[in-house]
Amino acid sequence: MRARGHHTWSLEELHFELGTAGVKSDFSSVFRAMAKLEMEGQVRRVELDDGRTHFEMTSEHHDHLRCSRCGEVAAVPCGPVAAAIEQMEALTGFAISDHRLVLTGTCLRCQQTDAPEPARSSAPAVTGRLAGASA
Ligand SMILES: [Zn+2]
Ligand SMILES: [Zn+2]
Repeated sequence: MRARGHHTWSLEELHFELGTAGVKSDFSSVFRAMAKLEMEGQVRRVELDDGRTHFEMTSEHHDHLRCSRCGEVAAVPCGPVAAAIEQMEALTGFAISDHRLVLTGTCLRCQQTDAPEPARSSAPAVTGRLAGASA
């Protein structure tokens, strides 16, 4: 996981990478291995609202940006969010202990390419292809 450039890994991606590395695995063995690493505190689960399970290396708290086109995930510091959370605590009286924020958009690379990218394995099953019907 450390060796590759992705920020997060879905089980599908891990399975695929193991396959290209010549390691035979199935989803359940990949899942068990990740669950073990999670228990050891080396990775944590990330919810990206795309119905898949993603993992990332454990690090400082941060929030995520996800490209709706290629599925790439970037980390962002949650400084501005923390300020908003203080306001929410003042408004609601809640002591907020955790939050998860996933912002969806289009990454720089996808903005610079007009042609739709071939979907990576982590891309959502339904990708927007609404444009392009014009003459
Ligand atoms: Zn992208
Ligand atoms: Zn992350």
